[in-house]
Amino acid sequence: MPRLYLPHPFTPQAELTLDEAQAHYLTQVLRLKPGDTVQLFNGADGEWRARIASVAKRAATLTLDAQTRSFAPVPDLMVCFAPPRGGRTETIIEKATELGARILQPVKTEFSVVDRINPQRLEATAREAAEQSERLDLPELRPMVSLSQLLGSWDATRPLLYGDESGASEGARIQRLGVSVSSSSLTPESWPLAPSLSILIGPEGGFSPAEHALLQRLPFAHGVSLGPRILRADTAVITLTAIIMSIWGDWHERPRFQPGSIA
Ligand code: SAM
Repeated sequence: MPRLYLPHPFTPQAELTLDEAQAHYLTQVLRLKPGDTVQLFNGADGEWRARIASVAKRAATLTLDAQTRSFAPVPDLMVCFAPPRGGRTETIIEKATELGARILQPVKTEFSVVDRINPQRLEATAREAAEQSERLDLPELRPMVSLSQLLGSWDATRPLLYGDESGASEGARIQRLGVSVSSSSLTPESWPLAPSLSILIGPEGGFSPAEHALLQRLPFAHGVSLGPRILRADTAVITLTAIIMSIWGDWHERPRFQPGSIA
């Protein structure tokens, strides 16, 4: 069943008007007709089933039917990253959204080659990934800031795990690091009480020596090694996000079974 993000309040039998792009997608691309059903989420009211009520040339209306899932937030993970070149920034947005990151924070570092982003394009990428992955909300995409701005206004109670490719940080100890930085075990059972976490991945050129020195001095920042091979920035974001979600127990939840979806 098609899934759409629709930023309107949901109440039973409410009639919702789609924007032109969404109407086009449902009626021209998917060729849905009045009476066909879709799933909707708005980031606050869970997931709802809706029926197409009317279709015009560039518009469509939906009638909300019933709630099919109540709202559940994604884990409080903030992904800070220096946007890499080409399509790899979109890859980071897409994969971090699928993996359940709550906040996406682009950062400009000393060796960054990309110093601006296209928020509309990245928001569209995040929305599509959220629709596809059955999230109930969208990640918050924050405006790009410099690393010094980011670290200068940091909430020191929020641990920051940064991918340290220099070899200076403990390797493969992230599970233990999770325990030590939170002072409570990040086991699956503790997930509901687990602290908020942030990660930071550097640009193609890595962090500069000054940035390494700064990160090492900050009490809330903890370098982690992701193994002996140098990962591309997008791979590093995916890897560290996946490790944290696994430790937190997010992976103990199962996708919903939809009859007919598995052959
Ligand atoms: N040019 C750098 C070098 O050769 O050392 C590599 C930078 S890497 C492409 C981009 C970012 O990914 C790094 O700044 C780091 O945050 C992360 N990263 C990549 N491989 C890593 C590893 N093995 N351990 C920890 N972080 C890693």
